[in-house]
Amino acid sequence: MDQLVITKAKEILKKTEGNICFHCFGRKLSTLVKNKTHLQTAYEVCDILGVDLKDRHCQICDNVFDKITPELFGKIYNKFDYLNIEFETFEVGTIIQKEIKQKDEELSDELGLNSESIKKHLNRIIATQIASKRNKKIDLIKQDIVVNVNLKNEGKIRIQINPIFIEGKYNKYIRGIPQTEWFCVYCKGKGCRKCNGTGKQYSESVEELLSKHLLEATRGYKSKFHGAGREDVDVLMLGSGRPFVIEIKEPKKRKINLKELEQKINEINKGKTRYTNLKYCESYRKGQIKQSSPETFKVYKAKVCCDKEFDESKLKELEFLNEINQQTPIRVLKRRTDKIRQKHVKELTTQIINNKSFELTIKTEGGLYIKELISGDEGRTQPNISEILGVNAFCEQLDVVEISEK
Ligand SMILES: [Zn+2]
Ligand SMILES: [Zn+2]
Repeated sequence: MDQLVITKAKEILKKTEGNICFHCFGRKLSTLVKNKTHLQTAYEVCDILGVDLKDRHCQICDNVFDKITPELFGKIYNKFDYLNIEFETFEVGTIIQKEIKQKDEELSDELGLNSESIKKHLNRIIATQIASKRNKKIDLIKQDIVVNVNLKNEGKIRIQINPIFIEGKYNKYIRGIPQTEWFCVYCKGKGCRKCNGTGKQYSESVEELLSKHLLEATRGYKSKFHGAGREDVDVLMLGSGRPFVIEIKEPKKRKINLKELEQKINEINKGKTRYTNLKYCESYRKGQIKQSSPETFKVYKAKVCCDKEFDESKLKELEFLNEINQQTPIRVLKRRTDKIRQKHVKELTTQIINNKSFELTIKTEGGLYIKELISGDEGRTQPNISEILGVNAFCEQLDVVEISEK
């Protein structure tokens, strides 16, 4: 054993008057010793110095390591079994008295030792045992669950189950369902006569038609839906679909056969909604899909109706629409900042239905409001279709025909 280790060991014993446990003693010396566990170091140094730390009351940790008992592990495993939880990776987090942490740091400072913190030490001891007993992997960066052990009191166990993320694309084939759950406007979700006690404005949503099956399969607590933009309740989502990420909170089962489930869900929702390419993803995909890149574009089909006959020759002028300055539409002012956004029309074609209505196919940058491009929104969208045609035009029906990949 290195002389420096012995010198430091003597200093530690002097400082603590020998009131230290093997765990803390070994840990304090650990940075000076290679390839030995804290306990191995402690036992060897004690042998050399002829001291025994057995039955000492440790003035650093208050003998907190004695709380790591078979009973504690029994409690942890009971919790796993009670929750019937499925996981591959985990980490342990312990809660200890603040004073213990302080005392430990003080001693390290006084002796100029940069030893492992007491919490890390405790976490590691507990985690190592769980890992070998249950054949699981410790992962401190990204883990399925965190086992929180409260050593302040009688070892309360709390399991934090981290979410899973699934991405895919959806289609909406009927009007009248929102993308995500909407609270009833009268009761704000509490349930009232207007909503038949459901608390919801619409009985179904694109999210719920998917999430109820995912929650059932994963035994999750709840879900959160992140769409790459959203269409209005009365707008269809056709083509290859709109990208989304769905987050499942507290899943007790993490590995499910998504291919099989996708088929089943689509069978059930046939003619209403469809979900494709479901696959597991990382949480950062939430943000990624929400940020539409400049190259993304959307194709819409709209049925436009006018209050009086329009001039057919003016219809041709619409094909030259390019730069649109759109101030936040009146109908979304509550949700979005009032400002002017500049968007571009990439392609536009029309097909006459009769002398007062026509079908419009328009390819634009994401984020352009089509209903307002048609009506003009009291002049807040410039230029606009009503103005060019010299009539009051409005959008009677709208479908998203395609959203580009990138
Ligand atoms: Zn100790
Ligand atoms: Zn209500």
